[in-house]
Amino acid sequence: DAAPAPAPGVRPRAVLDALPRYAAGRPATVVEGLQSFKLSSNENPLPPIPAVLDAIRDTTAINRYPDAVSTRLRERLATYLEVPAEDIVTGGGSLGALNQVLATYAGQNDFGAPDEVVYAWRSFEAYPISVGLSGATSVRVPLLPDGRHDLAAMAAAVTENTRVVLLCTPNNPTGPILTHDEVVDFLGRVPSHVVVVLDEAYLEFVRDPAAVDGLALYRAYPNLVLLRTFSKAHGLAGLRVGYTVAQPVITENLRVSAVPFAVSSLAETAAITSLDHLDEVLARVDSLVAERDRVVAALTEQGWDLPQAEGNFVWLRLGERCGDFAAAAERQALSVRRFGDEGVRVSIGEVDANTRFIDLCRSFGA
Ligand code: PMP
Repeated sequence: DAAPAPAPGVRPRAVLDALPRYAAGRPATVVEGLQSFKLSSNENPLPPIPAVLDAIRDTTAINRYPDAVSTRLRERLATYLEVPAEDIVTGGGSLGALNQVLATYAGQNDFGAPDEVVYAWRSFEAYPISVGLSGATSVRVPLLPDGRHDLAAMAAAVTENTRVVLLCTPNNPTGPILTHDEVVDFLGRVPSHVVVVLDEAYLEFVRDPAAVDGLALYRAYPNLVLLRTFSKAHGLAGLRVGYTVAQPVITENLRVSAVPFAVSSLAETAAITSLDHLDEVLARVDSLVAERDRVVAALTEQGWDLPQAEGNFVWLRLGERCGDFAAAAERQALSVRRFGDEGVRVSIGEVDANTRFIDLCRSFGA
C-alpha cells in the first residue's frame, strides 16, 4: 500500500524544528543472573505507601471529571504549607505547572519578537523544550565548574527582553543547592517585572541548612514563583501532580491559562492521602538521604570528586569517559543517564542498586 501523501500545507510551527527531543530515562538492561535497576529518571525507588494505594482503589467515580481546580488538594496543601489556598495552583506534574507559567509570561512581545527566558545550563532537560514551545528564546548561562548556578552571570544575562528566569535547586543533574542568601541577592538584582521561577522538585531531600526554601521568600517577592511536585519525595511520578506557589497577582493569571482538569481525580486523592501520611513519606525520604550519603561517602573515599549532592542523585563528571561508564553500568544491569560527554547522572535507588553502583565506581576508577 502506498504511504498516504502528506497533506499540503499541514506544517507544525517553525519552533518545532529547533526543539531538542526529550530522552526519557530508559529501563534497565536485562543481564542474565542480575536484578535490573533503573537509576536514570530520579524516581523514588520505594513502592507507594499502602494508604495511598487504598485511597486510589477507593476512587471509583472516574466517570466524572475531577474538580477542575483541585480544591481539596489545594486546601490540604494550604494547611500543610501554611499559605492561603489562593496562592496555590495545581498542574499535571511540576512540568505541567512550568508550562503554564511559561504560557502565561513568555512567548512573543507585542511586535512578534521572541521574549527571553534565562536559565542555567546544564539543568533540567525539559527546560529548553518548554521554553522553545512557548515561542520564547532560551538564554543559557553556563554553570560554574562545581555544578552551581553562576548567579552573577545569570543576573547579567537579563535584558529588557527577559520575561522569566528559571532557577533549579537542587540543580538537576549536577546536585548543588542555591542558598537563601544567594537567592535574596539575585532577586534584588533582577527587575521586579521579571518572573523568577524557583524549581524545588527535590526540596525534601535537601539537608544543607543554608539552602533556600522558597516558602520563606515568596510573600516578600510578588515576581517569585515556586514549583513543587509529588513525583520525587512522595513517589507519585506516575500520577502526574505538581503545583506552583506564588502571590495572587501571579496565581490569578495562572488560573486563566490552566488546562482544565489537568490533575486527575486519582492523582488528587493520592496526593492528599500522601500529605495525610507525611511522617511515613518523610521517613522514606530520610532513608533515601541516608543512602545518598552512603554513596557519596563511598565514592569520595574512592577518590571521586563529586559536586554537592542534595537531590536523590549524584553527578559524575566523566568527560570523555561518559560513554564507557554508561556501557559498564549497562553490563551491571544498571540504567543511568548520560549527558553527552559532560557527565553521568545516577539516581539513588534500592539499597542493592546503590551497592552495585558503588562497586561499579570502584572497579571503573575515579
Ligand atoms: N523539575 C526538575 C528539576 C526535575 O528534575 C523534574 C523531573 N525530573 C521536574 C521538574 C518534573 O517533575 P514532574 O513533572 O514529574 O513533577
